Order: sequence, then C-alpha cells, then structure tokens
Amino acid sequence: MSDEVKSVVVIGGGPGGYAAAFMAADMGMQVTLVDPDVNPGGVCLYRGCIPSKALLHVAKLLNETEEARNWGVTYTKPQIDLDKLRAWKQSVVDKLTGGLGQLSKQRKINHIHGRAVFLDNKTLEITDTQGGKQKLSFENAVLATGSRPAVIPGLAPDSPRIMDSTGALDLQDVPGKLLVIGGGYIGLEMGTVYAALGSKVTVVEMTPGLLPGADRDLVKTLQKNLEAKFQAILLNTKVKAMSEVKEGIKVRFVGEGIAEPEQVFDKVLMTIGRKPNSENLGLENTKVKIIQRGFVQVDGQRRTDEPNIFAIGDIAGEPMLAHKASHEGHVAVEAIAGHKAVFEPLAIPAVVFTDPEIAWCGLTEAQAKEQNRNVSIMRFPWAASGRALTMDRPDGLTKLIIDAETERILGVGIAGAGAGELIAEGVLAIEMGANATDLKMSIHPHPTLSETIMESAEMLFGTSTHVYRPKRR
Ligand SMILES: Cc1cc2nc3c(=O)[nH]c(=O)nc-3n(C[C@H](O)[C@H](O)[C@H](O)COP(=O)(O)OP(=O)(O)OC[C@H]3O[C@@H](n4cnc5c(N)ncnc54)[C@H](O)[C@@H]3O)c2cc1C
Repeated sequence: MSDEVKSVVVIGGGPGGYAAAFMAADMGMQVTLVDPDVNPGGVCLYRGCIPSKALLHVAKLLNETEEARNWGVTYTKPQIDLDKLRAWKQSVVDKLTGGLGQLSKQRKINHIHGRAVFLDNKTLEITDTQGGKQKLSFENAVLATGSRPAVIPGLAPDSPRIMDSTGALDLQDVPGKLLVIGGGYIGLEMGTVYAALGSKVTVVEMTPGLLPGADRDLVKTLQKNLEAKFQAILLNTKVKAMSEVKEGIKVRFVGEGIAEPEQVFDKVLMTIGRKPNSENLGLENTKVKIIQRGFVQVDGQRRTDEPNIFAIGDIAGEPMLAHKASHEGHVAVEAIAGHKAVFEPLAIPAVVFTDPEIAWCGLTEAQAKEQNRNVSIMRFPWAASGRALTMDRPDGLTKLIIDAETERILGVGIAGAGAGELIAEGVLAIEMGANATDLKMSIHPHPTLSETIMESAEMLFGTSTHVYRPKRR
C-alpha cells in the first residue's frame, strides 16, 4: 500500500454526499465538500425524509387519538398551533443538520458553501453563496447533486396555491380542499399529513393503481385505509388543465367514471416524480455521460465514464432513496481508496410512511411473475398476530417470496403499523442468504409484530402456530 494521501471533492451534501465525505475523511483522505447549505443534509434532511417524517409522526398521533374512541378513550378535538408545529419540525431539522455540521468539522472536512461546475476533468469552478468565484483542482470527485421535483410544463398556473413537496413541508396553512397530483409515496405521505390536520384530500393518479412498483396486495391494505381518510382517490385519471379562479385552483380531470370533471381546490400539491440535477454542472466539459431521464451513467463502483469522477445518489439512478445514496457513497469512496468494492445489493428496502406503512425489499411478487421465477408466496395475515390485535391493527400483512427449490428468501413485503422498522429483518435475511428454515428457527420475541415474519416462514412448512394451513401431503 502506498502512503500517498488521496484527495477527494464531494459535490452535494445530501445523504449520498455527506456519507461519502465522512467516510473518505475517516479513511484518511483530504476532503472538500461543496454544498450551498450551511450544514450538510441535502434534500433528505432539509426538504425530504426528515421534515416529512416529523409531520407524519404528528399525523399518526392525531389518527390514534381518533382510533382511541374504539377503546373507550375519548379526546376532545385537538387544537393545532401551526406555528408551533412548524417550529418543532424545524427544530428537528436544525438538530440533525447542526450535528452533521459538527461531525464534518471534527473530521476536518473543508466545507465550501457554494455550487460547483466542472471546467474539465481536474478543475471545478465554485461560486460561493456570496457570489465569489474560485477554482479548485481535484484528484477525485464524487458527484452527489441529487434531484428536484419534476413539473409538467405549462400545466400549473404561477400561483402560491400550487405547491411542490418543499412548499407542502413549509405548512403555510391547512387548506380546506387539497388536491394531490401523483399517487407515489411523497404524495401519499403528504396527503396523510394534511388529511390528519383537517384537509379534505383528493389524490389523482394517471395509472391504474397507487404506488406503482409495490405489490398490489400490500397497496390494497393501504388503499382501504386511505379511502376512509381521503375525500377521493381518482385512479386512471389525468389532470388536463388547471387555472386560478377567485376561490382557488380550478382543475379539469379526464379519466374513468369521473363524477365531477371540474373541481375547485384551495391548494394543489404536485408530486409527479423527481428529476436528477445533472444539468448546469459543466459535465459537457468532461467525459461524464448523461443517459435516459437525465441520470448519470455509472458502473458498479459508481465510476462515470471519466475515471476520476464518481456519481452517487439520486443523480445515479433509481431508486431515489437516501439509504441507497449513502451506500453508493461508501462504495465510491472505497473504489477511490483502491478497494475491490462494488454496489450490488440484493435488497434495497423501500418504505412508505403512511398509515399503515408499506415496506418491501428484494424481489417483489410482480417481478417474480414477470421473470417466471418458481417461487412460493407465504402471506401471514395480521389478524392472526396477538401483537397486532393488542394495537387494534389486524389489517396488516406480512409476506415472503421464497425460492421454491432452495427455500431461500428472495423478497419480503409488509403492510402494517411499523412495517418500516420490521423490513430490516427481511433485508438482513436476503443479504445473508437465509432460507425459510433460518427464519422459522430464529426465536422471535412475543408478543411482537416481528413474529409475523417467523410465522410466514413457518407457513411454508404448514406449521404456523396461528394460521391453520396444513401442507398438502
Ligand atoms: C418529501 C420527500 C420525502 C422523502 N422521504 C424519503 C424517505 O423517507 N426515505 C428515503 O430514503 N428517501 C426519501 N426521500 C428521497 C431522498 O430525500 C433522496 O433520495 C435523497 O435526499 C438523495 O440524496 P442525494 O445525496 O442523492 O442528494 P440530495 O439529498 O438531493 O442532496 C443534493 C445536494 O446537492 C446540492 N447541489 C446541487 N447542485 C449542486 C452544485 N452544483 N454544487 C454543489 N452542491 C449542489 C443540493 O443543494 C443538495 O444539498 C424523500 C424526498 C422528498 C422530496
């Protein structure tokens, strides 16, 4: 091993960028981080994962106080102090990003507050937040500039009544009638927040189902619950036109069986997907290639077509998730260090933090069908879980997608309270090559929802204690 100290510049301080920068510093590299925000954090901490989950935590509490009626506990109607709620959400963001700022300083990372543009494959021009410009030569670069909300050009009028996810997280007010355009996870999560705060929420989705990508049985459990909480869920429906009128935003829908093709909403939240931030980076001055949908082309180590430039996170492809970004960041840094690292996870978990939560990892049932895989699908209904009943949440489902020959766990899907926490066991099982016997033989604590994973494995052998499903002999 050579004693030469490597240097790396990381462009973008989100969960991909700061994970890469911190690891590079921990490995003894000289690290510069370029990002406009005061502290690292990126979209996830400032405008995504963290503020949305803080608000969803409040939504969960509000929903539970309603459900408590069924258990003989009645609360008076909650009073919501929006200023205080907003301040609390912000305090969570500040605590986390402030902590990252300290961790960055402790690691002696040179944080330049600005935006970087490539002049060539060895030089950046950085415009700092005061407008000053400087050139920076680099040995290795990690590009982690993330993504932004996609828009439909010409559809939305320029109006404060139209929000993207960042605007929705600002929580300016609680609109009486809110339209959410897009039935993906961001729309459903923010819809859940606003519905709990008192908005009448309509979701419009142009495809036949919510959450494309998730298995339909998991979505069914969620959709049933959302139908009770939301005003309407319009599937197979497109927004054809929007205009601002005195009372709000007038929206024209086109789709199957729309009872009211024109409706007026107080506010509209557009969540139709996200676009990678690959423009205006001077990439044309390098050999870095942009491929379909604006993603940067990378290899298994997250190396671009320019050997000393890596790309990670939302800019490097789907799934656009924080934990995927961080792992790619680690792989890229290991590659810079000369290690034989490669990004080839068997399972990247996806979690939708709605009520109930939905989570899945590894192979989905739909993918197994598409790929003609010989699999056994085991579904354990939460109505048979003691813990779920103590929580009055019998509506959940845990399912395993198991290789029919080897009994190896290929995929796990969960719909139910706390699914986001439970799915980690599935990820570990898949990554460790566990089979159904391993899950069945591992003693799970009682009474917990985690037992549903063990019992769905037992179902393969016809021996689940709480579900009578004898194996055909
Ligand atoms: C409302 C919402 C909720 C979400 N919830 C979740 C969730 O629960 N779980 C989850 O896993 N994911 C969630 N996501 C997605 C998650 O936020 C992203 O996948 C993640 O932030 C991607 O990380 P990243 O490092 O690629 O980039 P980002 O977090 O997008 O950060 C990129 C950074 O680069 C900076 N930058 C851009 N251009 C330049 C430049 N030229 N020079 C310097 N800096 C630049 C940006 O200012 C930004 O700080 C959510 C997203 C949203 C919008």
